[in-house]
Amino acid sequence: MGRYLGSSCKLCRREGMKLMLKGIRCETSKCPIEKRQRNVAPGMHGWRRGRGSDYGVRLREKQKVKRYYGLYETQFMRYFEDAEHTKGNTGEVLLSMLERRLDNVIYKLNFAPSRKTARQLITHGHIYINGKKIDIPDFVVSIGDKITVKSSEKSKKRIRAQLDTNPNYSAQGWLQLDIKAPSATIVALPTRQDVQLPIEEQLVVEFCSK
Ligand code: SF4
Repeated sequence: MGRYLGSSCKLCRREGMKLMLKGIRCETSKCPIEKRQRNVAPGMHGWRRGRGSDYGVRLREKQKVKRYYGLYETQFMRYFEDAEHTKGNTGEVLLSMLERRLDNVIYKLNFAPSRKTARQLITHGHIYINGKKIDIPDFVVSIGDKITVKSSEKSKKRIRAQLDTNPNYSAQGWLQLDIKAPSATIVALPTRQDVQLPIEEQLVVEFCSK
């Protein structure tokens, strides 16, 4: 499976919104989306960005979700198929599943500055769930799961250094964070409000259902 090696900021410019792909830089004035003259779609005619056709609008909504969570097309469609076969509103179920991906959870706990770094932490074996090492970034957490950090001093130091960047950080209600340990417990399922992505999930469902 190919890996996207291009510019992350280009993806945000394409979608015309902050996808928060670069950690701390995304919060600063260096973010191109913050600069009016650079907030245009990539390419020679980027400034022409219009509303687009019905198909185009739906495609863009799907791309936003896919890029926000750092997924490939096949991975995304697998989540969509699972969401379709699950009881409830397909769009909301899809977002809830994506939100419970381990790389997203590690990012939301502020154990890593971005989902990309969170993926690296996981694949390098720094993260444990219920006492077992999990090195799969797309592992989906469930209620009651306890997330801990590898007992080595190096792993704990790395996570503590990240937590220290924002000591007043409070995790969302579905995550119970223990900054001192550091560890966390999943106490509920994420709701639509917990997904901080301003998209219309119904359009994503319409696009993918074709
Ligand atoms: Fe780049 Fe982050 Fe800004 Fe996106 S949000 S354009 S990744 S700095």
